Amino acid sequence: VQSEVPTLISARWVIPVEPAGIVLDHHSVAISGGLIEAVLPTAEAMAAYPGHARIDLPDHALIPGLVNLHTHAAMTLMRGMADDLPLMRWLQEHIWPAESKHVSAQFVRDGTLLACAEMLRGGITCFNDMYFYPEAAVEAALESGMRAALGMIVIDFPTAYASDPDDYLAKGLALRDRYRDHPLLSFCLAPHAPYTVSDGALGKIATMAAELDCPVHCHVHETQDEISRSVAEHGMRPLERLRRLGIVGPNLVSVHSVHLSDAEIAMLADHGSSVAHCPSSNLKLASGFSPVAALLKAGVNVGLGTDGAASNNRLDALQEMRQAALLAKAVARDAEAVPAHTALEMATLSGARALGLDAKIGSIVPGKRADLAALDFSAPELSPVFDPVSHLVYCAGREHVSHVWVDGSLKMADRTLKHMDFPGLDTRIKLWQNNLKNRTES
Ligand SMILES: [Zn+2]
Repeated sequence: VQSEVPTLISARWVIPVEPAGIVLDHHSVAISGGLIEAVLPTAEAMAAYPGHARIDLPDHALIPGLVNLHTHAAMTLMRGMADDLPLMRWLQEHIWPAESKHVSAQFVRDGTLLACAEMLRGGITCFNDMYFYPEAAVEAALESGMRAALGMIVIDFPTAYASDPDDYLAKGLALRDRYRDHPLLSFCLAPHAPYTVSDGALGKIATMAAELDCPVHCHVHETQDEISRSVAEHGMRPLERLRRLGIVGPNLVSVHSVHLSDAEIAMLADHGSSVAHCPSSNLKLASGFSPVAALLKAGVNVGLGTDGAASNNRLDALQEMRQAALLAKAVARDAEAVPAHTALEMATLSGARALGLDAKIGSIVPGKRADLAALDFSAPELSPVFDPVSHLVYCAGREHVSHVWVDGSLKMADRTLKHMDFPGLDTRIKLWQNNLKNRTES
């Protein structure tokens, strides 16, 4: 982490997310030592911080850095490899065979570097990852200077990464021990899904989550098929099985949560669990429509995720905000469901809260770390601007993100990434593409 010069960022609009629902006109954010020092009117700020370097953003909205609450970053290397398929055929016929043949530490490092470049260019400053070889994802996140929550993945079947659930857990915990004090890193226990992790391993994970006060990042109720199979095999729905095993609690980040009964929505609310809503992935895999308005109404904390680039195919949080807002309205048959400010909160503070990071990031508040993104609203397709939050959710795209800071460090300025030359990465991406393309031929 580089120490940066104290800087005063003066924007046309500052959208702090906390307090909720406000837009600050002609405000400045003073940052120093990676921290947000103050948020104040620009006229006052110039007098109060005369020694700070200045960045003027006259047509821009400054927002908290976006939090991608669910991804498999390395899967960027499989972007567009197999499309237009339902979840189980997509996994069983394409993704799992390709992963078993090709995924290695180098694959994860290269794929995650690519993902970090894409995410930073779209205003994402923090991602919650679940994939094999998380130590390689750590290297990539640190090399690109992104904030990351790394999943200590657990899955019943053996891979080149680990042989059985105990081996997965041991490797994940060793990685956590090594990096637990790093300012940009945090860790989640990451059982892949109820249908790929046995009761014994889930029980151990529940105990560890309580002991370590560690989030549990898990795909839950993604498809109707997952639920039918669980009822046949276990005599109960997956969420009920997770509850009995002790997984459902304030640490749970329940990914997708597409198919939920009213009682299950109440269960998630009562236990203080979070949901990672991934609207594009749910639409593309035809998984269904998550009852987001009902979850929010019940008081469930709902953040937004892109899922992996093989099922989206963009790691684009701005697009997920728009999808989430539009889809929630259609599903609830209520145009007032998930208004723009709520969608922005889901993509920032709610994601941070799910990861236990809301004291540190997720809003523009003095004392929090300076994870920030600016969007340039001067383009014709964004004019006029009545309400910059409406524009963020319904109108702007990631191509309008101009500046990004992580922990006070400027990662992108005027759409140019800084300190992001990864020698040989382009060539290696082409090699991975060739290997994956030939996967059926040997
Ligand atoms: Zn996923």
